[in-house]
Amino acid sequence: MDGGEIWIYNSGSSKLNLKRNIIICIILMLTSITLSVYIKKDSSGSDSLIIFSQDFTLKELAEKNNVPVKEILHILSHADPAVWDVARNRPIKTIIKNPDAVKNAVEHIKGDVQPSKDIAKYISWTLYLSLILLLIFSRKHIKKIRVWIMVLTVLVFGLILGANPNPMESSVKLFKLFNSMKGSPNIVVVSFILFTFFSIMGSKFMCSWGCQLGALQECLFNIPVFKRKHEVKVPFSLSFGLRIVIFIIFFILLFGFGYGVVFGIKDFVVYHHLNYFKIFDFHELAAIAFYSLPIFILSSFFIFRPFCHYICPFGLYSWLLENVALNKIRINEKKCIQCEKCINACPTEAMKYIYNHKRKYFLPDCWSCGNCIDVCPVDAIEYRGSGT
Ligand code: SF4
Ligand code: SF4
Ligand code: SF4
Repeated sequence: MDGGEIWIYNSGSSKLNLKRNIIICIILMLTSITLSVYIKKDSSGSDSLIIFSQDFTLKELAEKNNVPVKEILHILSHADPAVWDVARNRPIKTIIKNPDAVKNAVEHIKGDVQPSKDIAKYISWTLYLSLILLLIFSRKHIKKIRVWIMVLTVLVFGLILGANPNPMESSVKLFKLFNSMKGSPNIVVVSFILFTFFSIMGSKFMCSWGCQLGALQECLFNIPVFKRKHEVKVPFSLSFGLRIVIFIIFFILLFGFGYGVVFGIKDFVVYHHLNYFKIFDFHELAAIAFYSLPIFILSSFFIFRPFCHYICPFGLYSWLLENVALNKIRINEKKCIQCEKCINACPTEAMKYIYNHKRKYFLPDCWSCGNCIDVCPVDAIEYRGSGT
């Protein structure tokens, strides 16, 4: 349990590290299959049939369809924020101007749970990330293949398999669950556990290699015409500060702390309006995300993963998990010739902190991108577990 670090090489370490990573991959695969079977079982009772009548009250409608009233209201509130004040024990036709919107909201919630697609995605992710982990370990230079893997991640986990599930929504749904805004609690918890496991495999491993939106931002950043020319390196204090402020605002507005005093808002999900994952299900993109899309795209050309650094709550969580990640960047002090090429090649301030021994824990985000490994002229950097 340590941050990126300086280590002293020992000759038996490579084999030991490979063995350890193979064991990690097997455990992860078995866990993923077990949890996927559990998702399937848990959701087998919730068919997609909608039971709807305009004479139902909101409460009746929610009970008959096994969805939370709050989630129906949350979806309706995107078009009409005043909907939170309607009486929940009166027939829908007397309280909502457009009852069809209520039916659509229930359809949307039920459509969000697609166990077969989710399971396919989790198992593909486990296989994919396991192969990548073994690939990184068996190669000295990963930068070139990384470019193509990023394209593949966008294609498979974004364009083909869609926006959901994804790490950001899994963390947001967990908080919505605590606020009684989410049905299927087991599915929410299982997906969060899986994303946590993926992130413990290696420093920010899920974010770095498997996340469709992270990969999309990196693909834009890698477009040669803009590459490196005007690159802006994100200062860790700024990215950390912004992410935490947005998270606190999300927390306050979701649970309504200081309701009527601070903002007068409750059950409001800030991240819904900043959910760029919906690029992969474009018709679901929220208005704010839609209109700010040019900023998202433009900034991705010059800043390495701006959404990840400044906004994403899972980025914040995976930054915490970096402290317990099983594989991370380490420098062999005996080989290092202090050229500092690795610091320049790093898209964040991570290498500066690792190299200068600034601290052991809570370093700036390291995205396991391998840039530093590639540029080191004496192969003094490795991606490995501690004590191997
Ligand atoms: S931090 Fe970036 S890579 Fe990680 S989940 Fe969020 S969007 Fe994806
Ligand atoms: S270059 Fe990439 S892998 Fe190396 S320290 Fe920086 S973020 Fe981590
Ligand atoms: S690139 Fe390699 S040799 Fe140069 S400072 Fe970094 S670790 Fe040391």
